[in-house]
Amino acid sequence: MKNTANIIFFGAPGAGKGTQAKKVSYELKIPHLDTGNLIREAISGGTELGKKAKEYVEGGNLVPDDLVIGLIREKLLELKGNNFKGFILDGFPRTIPQAEALGNMMKELNLQITKVLNVQAPESILIDRLSARRLCTNKSCGAIYNLFTKKPQREGKCDHCGADLYQRKDDTAEAARQRLKEYHSKTAPIETYYRKQTVLADIDGTKDPQEVYNKILEIIPLN
Ligand code: AMP
Repeated sequence: MKNTANIIFFGAPGAGKGTQAKKVSYELKIPHLDTGNLIREAISGGTELGKKAKEYVEGGNLVPDDLVIGLIREKLLELKGNNFKGFILDGFPRTIPQAEALGNMMKELNLQITKVLNVQAPESILIDRLSARRLCTNKSCGAIYNLFTKKPQREGKCDHCGADLYQRKDDTAEAARQRLKEYHSKTAPIETYYRKQTVLADIDGTKDPQEVYNKILEIIPLN
């Protein structure tokens, strides 16, 4: 039986959090809670949350804290009640109030954050990666491509399942710039917050994805 691992992936949009979080979730067999994806699903499903979040997401702005905190709270309670093995948070927390709310939820659930992985890359790389990113439309596949560094073999088609690829509306240069602005003003201060709690580990996100992954496996507990 594995010990629980409660891991947070932290970093700017385009740093590679999602790619790595997905692999670690598969390796440790623990759920990957990706708030961006959960919010996009709510938008395409036309839920109340989705309706409230749509404009913020499309403009590259953060969705209000109370909405995202409520969403994560619901997911963590669901996980905790069901053969709990841990979780990977990707894209949450993104503000100090979210980090504080998560701290309270962890206390309430008698859990601790194992590691916060701070995936870092310079702004020029982030913008290039976001505008070259393409995703598989097949949700159960979810493969991620980059038109320069990880090109699909057939243009516009997924190598794994053959479904069409698409570009996220908020990956266009203008929305991506706004997302980075939001990151610097609201999300980056969390780095100091977690560094003080000594659970933060810095990861060089400019390296090849396999190298980044190997580094992460050295840092997180595997059993
Ligand atoms: P991502 O897929 O992580 O890049 O997230 C896409 C968008 O979803 C963000 O630009 C925000 O509009 C919204 N979002 C995701 N996570 C959060 C969060 N923790 N707080 C507020 N907004 C979020």
